[in-house]
Amino acid sequence: MLKKIVVTFLFLIFLFLSILVFNALTMPLGITTYPESRDDIVDRINKIDTHTVASRIAESIEFPTVSYDDDPVDPDAFIALHEWLNNTYPSAHLVLERELINDLSLVYKWKGASDCNPIGFVTHLDVVPVESGTEDEWTYPPFKGVVSDGFVWGRGAYDTKNTIIYFLEAVENLANRGFTPRCDVYLLAGHDEEAGGQNGAKETASLLRSRNIHFSWLIDEGGSFSANLDGSTAPMVANIGVGQRGFANIKLTVRAKGGSTARGTEETAITKLSRAILTIRENPMPGRLDGVPEEDLIARARGGLFYHKLIAANTWLLRPVAETILESKGQVNYLRSTAAATIISGGDKFNLLPQQASAIIGVRLHPRDTSEDVMKWLKDIVQAEDIKFELISFSDPPLPVDPNNNKDFNFVSNSIAAVYGSIRIVPSFLTSATDGRYYRDLTDSLFNFDADMFLPDNKNSGGHGTDERITTSHLAEAVVLYEVLIETH
Ligand SMILES: [Zn+2]
Repeated sequence: MLKKIVVTFLFLIFLFLSILVFNALTMPLGITTYPESRDDIVDRINKIDTHTVASRIAESIEFPTVSYDDDPVDPDAFIALHEWLNNTYPSAHLVLERELINDLSLVYKWKGASDCNPIGFVTHLDVVPVESGTEDEWTYPPFKGVVSDGFVWGRGAYDTKNTIIYFLEAVENLANRGFTPRCDVYLLAGHDEEAGGQNGAKETASLLRSRNIHFSWLIDEGGSFSANLDGSTAPMVANIGVGQRGFANIKLTVRAKGGSTARGTEETAITKLSRAILTIRENPMPGRLDGVPEEDLIARARGGLFYHKLIAANTWLLRPVAETILESKGQVNYLRSTAAATIISGGDKFNLLPQQASAIIGVRLHPRDTSEDVMKWLKDIVQAEDIKFELISFSDPPLPVDPNNNKDFNFVSNSIAAVYGSIRIVPSFLTSATDGRYYRDLTDSLFNFDADMFLPDNKNSGGHGTDERITTSHLAEAVVLYEVLIETH
């Protein structure tokens, strides 16, 4: 009898494990292949003069359109860049209407033949500064714009002078062929994305809102090609951003009785504030793997090792395992909003008890949370009556796109497959905030994708760092991708 129970038990375990393994082995591959012939597109890619595209990206880098957090930008660099774009793309500028927002941001519109909802691309003209003291570490001076060794080198090479060039190259080519788009096509190029987008994208969005413009889709920077989790690159992974995090900066202020240290008190505004900061550090917001981050990881696991597939195909059971792995690898941004003290101030004299101390808590918002949710959570865990909470600035996460039920996502995926051949599509989760968030209420779908290559032997590098560069080997595809997106919409 006992033997029978043991055998039955072992059999059930075997059956159970077999189901898990079966699910892993039969997981869809998630590969998109263009259903029609790609001959014309391949032909078009081959006819693009890569050297010209590369030199134009290099030339655009020579305009030092730097954004600083506090200092005003140098408007002349932006105006010179505008002029250069004008002169470099004459056919495009015959068909495009151009508008300046706050003098420095650009809005290009290509009028469509019918009055269907427009489509558009979001980019920015500004670049981050080169950190002072690191200029000598660059292989070529950051604003020289050099094409060499198979790369375009310089600040802005892939963040994101390149996408402005892809768009204008595509429009120039299409205009020269006498093409007219079906719906209006926009390029929205802000001038202060790297400083928060308040004067560029935000203003542009309110202007478009006042004109009741509503887009079918917008494609913003971010998202790129990468290798699979198992290291393979055939097919490449196309990471199409469908959701991103938001942010909030929350100021905590504590007041306490002041006076001389001679008073003998050991409790001050600083100690109270320190306890609050530690409480926040020790009580992370509850998290869970769901929504866009889960979609991202499941799709990515299709190109992963067996254990990736095993977990991803059985999240009904193994989600806690995935959560533990993410937690142990420090990838908690997939699970929850994170909060960290970033600025602190209080006290200015050796022998005076500070009456006031304050700290800024920098929060990155998971797509499921709003800044209000996080404020409430902070107040709940800190629970000290004499601490004041103020929301200094915030941007709630934009509404994500549901990749399983979105025709625009399929359109963009197919367009990428048309240009690059078979592709593993990953609806991906962006951990940073981009200008596109300002336009979220103006568009059915917002994506982040910019055709950059992050492959092991073809490495773009240096975003916001030293030696920013972009490979020249896929510039033709990038231009043709913009053509296809505009032409076949
Ligand atoms: Zn950028």
